[in-house]
Amino acid sequence: MMKTRILLTNDDGITAVGLRELEEGLRGLGRLTVVAPDRERSASGHSLTLQHPLRIDEQGPGHYAVDGTPTDCVFLGVNQVMRHERPDLVISGINRGGNLGDDITYSGTVAAAFEATLLGIPAIAVSLEYEREYHFATASRVARKVTEMVLAQGLPPDTMLNVNVPDLPWDKLAGFRVTRQGKRFYSGVVRENVDPRGRHYYWIGGEVLPGPAAVDTDAALVRRGFVSITPIHLDLTNHRALAALAEWEWES
Ligand code: MN
Repeated sequence: MMKTRILLTNDDGITAVGLRELEEGLRGLGRLTVVAPDRERSASGHSLTLQHPLRIDEQGPGHYAVDGTPTDCVFLGVNQVMRHERPDLVISGINRGGNLGDDITYSGTVAAAFEATLLGIPAIAVSLEYEREYHFATASRVARKVTEMVLAQGLPPDTMLNVNVPDLPWDKLAGFRVTRQGKRFYSGVVRENVDPRGRHYYWIGGEVLPGPAAVDTDAALVRRGFVSITPIHLDLTNHRALAALAEWEWES
C-alpha cells in the first residue's frame, strides 16, 4: 500500500514549538511534509496572497517555509510542493492558544484546514488552550489519536475537525467530546498609548471572560477539561433564517 501523505502547517510560524510537537506526535503515521509560514501569522483568517509573489524556502528535507499566510501554505503545499503526490490529510497546528467559538473566523490555524477542505482534502485543526504553561505534549498525543481515528474512519465530505485541547497533563484530561461551536466572550479592549515619538497607537486584544457558555459547546467542554472535537463545514448559510427572509416582499 502507498504510504499515507500528511501535509502539516500552522499559523504560529515554521519555528513554533507547537508545529515541532505536532510533527513528533505524528511520526510513523505516514510521510510528513511541512509547509508553514516563515513567521507568525496568527489571526490572519482565511486570507490568500494575490498582490505579490510568494517564495518557498526549502529549509530541510520535507520542510518548506513560505513568506505568506497559512492559506497560502496549504494552497502552495497541495498545488506546488506536493503536486505529484497529493496529501491524504492536512493538519494545522498545534496552535498556541485555543480556537473556540467565534475565534475560528479570525484563526489562521482553522483557515488552513478550511483551505484543505476546499481543495477536497480531509483536514484537522489542533489548538492548545492556555491556562498556565502550555502542555504541548498532551496536545501532541491528542493530535496523534485524532489523526489515527480520521485515517481509520475518514471524514464526511466538506467537513473538517476543529480540535481544542485543555492545558492539562495527559492523565488529567477528562476525556474526549464531540461538541458544537460556542461563543467566546472577550472584554472589548482597545489599549491606547503614546509611542516614543509622541504619536498615539492602539493595541487590539481583550481578555477572555468566563461568560455564560452553553454546556455542550467547545468552550464549555474545554473549560471542564475535555478535548473538544467540533465538526465544521464551509456552508455559512444561516438555515434558521432562510424561511423568515423568504417571507420579505422582495419584489414589491
Ligand atoms: Mn496562532
